[in-house]
Amino acid sequence: MSALLELRGLRAYYGTVECLHGVDLTVGDGEVVVVLGANGAGKTTLLRSVCQLVRTEGSVLLSGKQLGGRSTYDVVRRGVAMVPQGRGTLAELSVDDNLRAGGYIRKDKQVRTDIAYWYDTFPRLAQRRSTSAGSLSGGEQQMLAIARALMSRPRLLLLDEPSLGLAPIVVRQLFDVLARVRAEREVAMVVVEQNAALALDLARRAYVLEAGTVAVSGSAAELRDDESVRRAYLGY
Ligand code: ATP
Repeated sequence: MSALLELRGLRAYYGTVECLHGVDLTVGDGEVVVVLGANGAGKTTLLRSVCQLVRTEGSVLLSGKQLGGRSTYDVVRRGVAMVPQGRGTLAELSVDDNLRAGGYIRKDKQVRTDIAYWYDTFPRLAQRRSTSAGSLSGGEQQMLAIARALMSRPRLLLLDEPSLGLAPIVVRQLFDVLARVRAEREVAMVVVEQNAALALDLARRAYVLEAGTVAVSGSAAELRDDESVRRAYLGY
């Protein structure tokens, strides 16, 4: 059985500069994987590589099919959605229109049902359905960005630092929601996150990137027990 996502010997380039130097990483169906690492280690580049937003070499396989060289549109159509750092909601559009925009790629008639699911999951968004996304709080915008990405019914959701800039209590709510999504939506996730403690609670496995290569990988429990991980990311 092949993994949902398999990166093999992944190299990524900005112009001629190589930023990932042969990364191997796998994500199983419905599995949550966290990627830790210092600033500049290449975490964002790894997510961008999956979406083919940077030039890559090596293998980027989704259910065994090569994504390398495909258009980002094609990658999305094959079941990948990304919530970029800084959220990327459509600020001028209402909450409702943002959710509908997220479902644009779908041909089925369940878009309204899914929007109702997200309003049930995030009552704050339901209350503010006619409000423009740009006037929501940071936490509400992040919830909207996640719901919008999931409106395409992806098999794989890529999240880049979802907790960045949010108050601790909002961060906890966000991770509760991600745990609910993990349980209810059968979607695999790759989560890049500075908040290692919460991310390791959510994830089954984890990778630590250092200067464009994988320095440590293992189960979330193994990484929690790893002394270098504890010192650098968990602070004890
Ligand atoms: P951060 O947490 O700061 O976002 P990161 O681990 O996500 O860090 P990346 O943003 O993937 O790191 O950056 C990896 C390397 O690629 C860094 O050396 C960075 O300077 C370089 N880089 C990132 N974006 C570009 C770009 N658009 N052009 C050139 N180099 C880039």
